[in-house]
Amino acid sequence: MENPHIVIVPSPGFTHLVPILEFSKRLLHLHHEFRVTCIIPSLGPPPPSSQTYLQSLPPTINFIFLPPISKDQVPEHAHITQQIQLGVTHSLPHIHQELKSLCSRTRVVALIVDVFANSALDFARDLKLLSYVYLPLSAMIVSFYFHSKTLDQVLSSKHMDPQEPIILSGCVPVHYSDLPQACHDLSSDAYKEFLIRSRRCLSLPDGVLVNSFLELEEETVRVLKEQIRGKPKIFPVGPIIQSASVDHKNGLECLTWLDKKEPSSVLYVSFGSGGTLSQEQSDELAFGLELSGVKFLWVVRAPSNKASAGYFGGAAEESLRFLPLGFVDRTKNQGLVVPFWAPQIQILTHRSVGGFLCHCGWNSVLESVVKGVPVVAWPLFAEQSLNAVLLTDGLKVALRPKVNENGIMPREEIAKVVSGLMRSAEGADIRKRMEHLKNAASKALEEDGSSTMALSELAADLRGLWH
Ligand code: UDP
Repeated sequence: MENPHIVIVPSPGFTHLVPILEFSKRLLHLHHEFRVTCIIPSLGPPPPSSQTYLQSLPPTINFIFLPPISKDQVPEHAHITQQIQLGVTHSLPHIHQELKSLCSRTRVVALIVDVFANSALDFARDLKLLSYVYLPLSAMIVSFYFHSKTLDQVLSSKHMDPQEPIILSGCVPVHYSDLPQACHDLSSDAYKEFLIRSRRCLSLPDGVLVNSFLELEEETVRVLKEQIRGKPKIFPVGPIIQSASVDHKNGLECLTWLDKKEPSSVLYVSFGSGGTLSQEQSDELAFGLELSGVKFLWVVRAPSNKASAGYFGGAAEESLRFLPLGFVDRTKNQGLVVPFWAPQIQILTHRSVGGFLCHCGWNSVLESVVKGVPVVAWPLFAEQSLNAVLLTDGLKVALRPKVNENGIMPREEIAKVVSGLMRSAEGADIRKRMEHLKNAASKALEEDGSSTMALSELAADLRGLWH
């Protein structure tokens, strides 16, 4: 009999392509009968990291590249989440066409879309498919989606006190300044889209697949399930991360350098696939690392005043020339700087790495949890501040430096927090808690672990439609 077929739709950008495909790989690994086709919308030609990654997929996953959206169709100053979402919206006619064609040729049972591709969910209803949203994000974000109406009332109220933490049931209390960026301007398109996305993702699909695991966000998942009452079903299917980062020319240099360092002595510094610092902040970070005396491996981006500037690619060669004069030379025995990209997973797996100064993108958060590496939390954009709150106040596996009155993290503060994580008794306690989470993550993925069970439940639902 023909194998049941699942169609997935990621959003443009490396970190909205890889997680949903890694999820598909794990589903296929555990439940061999399914086949997957991935319909890929993109903004401009896909970056080399995405292309290399796609070439590594197993033959049970096919992919179809849609004609790329021209960058002129997306306003240059649009918020990053809007850019991603517009990349999908402009591709909808092509997505529909490919989906209908697949349904006419194969036994498609379900459509699974990335959270920013939720506009494609309507097609599932028309074609009578099961539908799911995949969130490469925390369960706390799902909870924020669920509470978005309440949150809107709080934020719109004249009596709101920005100093008072916002308490949503099942979530770690969050200060106004740590809300997702879009929530800071209620008249913005980004905020309106946040409200629409929240409503659509929890009202349209049959299920929400969240790349988190029960033991990481137990209370949040428990309360969410209670409140939602099975409509849609919540599946905590994580932690799903790549087994290795895509290969890159900086890789060998980083790993050979790490080989010569003491166990747990190096701080890895990286701001995800596109996070970028201003020139002033980048200088403070350089001086702060130098001042701390801690060994570091820093993935450096050319500075920009837009924190997400590198998200859709950038010029690697440019990056290092923006570092303070003489920095590379002065720190040659202390640190290694590499331009633009490094094999993060291999680095976090390396025994010499003992800390991760991280922008708290959710993939990086999961990678540090799975590898047991404690964090210096340095959120930049989107929902990263919420992740930082979860790591710092909720799970207590991170330290977070404070910005000064000009919104800059000064070098002394950076040096203090970095040394605190790598060398103090407080840092040692944080390391122990992270080790505990690492073990919990590994258990969740075992045969009878919470994540494996969630996937089995999903597979049973998919088979239900099939038989
Ligand atoms: N990454 C990498 N090398 C780099 C920077 C990032 O391999 O130099 C990978 C990292 O391992 C993670 C992803 O890119 O899987 C970044 O995702 P995340 O959600 O942390 O942040 P985003 O890029 O979405 O801001």
